Amino acid sequence: MKKIGLKLSAVLLATSFALAGCTGGKTANSTEKKDGEKLKIYTSFYPMYDFAKKIGGDKVEVTNLVPAGTEPHDWEPSAKDLAKISEADLLVYSGAGMESWIEKLDETTKDSKLVKVEASHGVDLIKSEHHHDHEDAHDHEDAHDHEDAHEHEDEHKDEDKDAKEENHEHDHEDAHEHHHHGAYDPHVWLAPQNAKIEMKNIKDALVKADAANKDYYEKNFETYSKKIDELDNKFLTSLKNTKSKNIVVSHEAFAYLCKAYGIKQIGIEGLSPDSEPDAARMAEVTKFAKENNVKYIFFEELVSPKVSETIAKEVGAKTAVLNPLEGLSEDQLKAGEDYFSIMESNLKVLLEALNA
Ligand SMILES: [Zn+2]
Repeated sequence: MKKIGLKLSAVLLATSFALAGCTGGKTANSTEKKDGEKLKIYTSFYPMYDFAKKIGGDKVEVTNLVPAGTEPHDWEPSAKDLAKISEADLLVYSGAGMESWIEKLDETTKDSKLVKVEASHGVDLIKSEHHHDHEDAHDHEDAHDHEDAHEHEDEHKDEDKDAKEENHEHDHEDAHEHHHHGAYDPHVWLAPQNAKIEMKNIKDALVKADAANKDYYEKNFETYSKKIDELDNKFLTSLKNTKSKNIVVSHEAFAYLCKAYGIKQIGIEGLSPDSEPDAARMAEVTKFAKENNVKYIFFEELVSPKVSETIAKEVGAKTAVLNPLEGLSEDQLKAGEDYFSIMESNLKVLLEALNA
């Protein structure tokens, strides 16, 4: 095998010699960063992109993997993406289970120089409550009914079989959700102080990869760190004395934000907006909204507002956008929106809803 390999490379070498005139010496394959050359960074989804650009400034070239206007929960990189990532200096991802494809990446990039940065490292993670997502996928009211069916209704063979199949599906979907979200809620960036931790981890990685520009990265971090503190204070003071503390959201992306400011979220869907809520869940949310006098049902731009609208109609509430910052649209990017401007809009709409 080795001999054949050598012969093959000899042929390839000869060929590349022959082609050298056309390809202009592209065989030079140095991975060392030269003076003035920008660090090449790939980011998993929008907040990571925004943070990396803010800290890296003009010393880095940042490419976001999830396209504008795409919901990131179910996104996976293509083979082409994986190849591009392998060529980069850094990959910044949020982690805590948000990017289920990271493991896949480990295999394809194990021989590359790529440095992976888990931005959420050090964040005080909230355990995933792990409810609704898999239950909502089914049309039954209560899982216990099926257990009863197992125990007492053996004569109904078909029903029993259905129940077993559903139980099997439960197992499967639990595993699925586990794979996607792990044991923790991944939406850390929605609490400003967590966003600061993510920025700091990104800053530390940049300093390590490009020590020559250490002061530059440190200064940028300091600037945005101050902006984060201002934002956090604004949230704290203005949300302190709202009339209500309950929000209804399309998917449960706001646990970290809620925890930071004493709010309670109820999600029409679970940690990921990929399942259609069933009638039971819809009824539960509607009941909650009525009982708690909820005036706004929040939806998000990257997910269909249909379900939120249905509930709002039934409750007599309005709908409004509360943005989980999982992705910005092309228009928002062009308009210069970023983490801070979207969070300011979120605060505005939260105040409107909680003081209505
Ligand atoms: Zn989410």
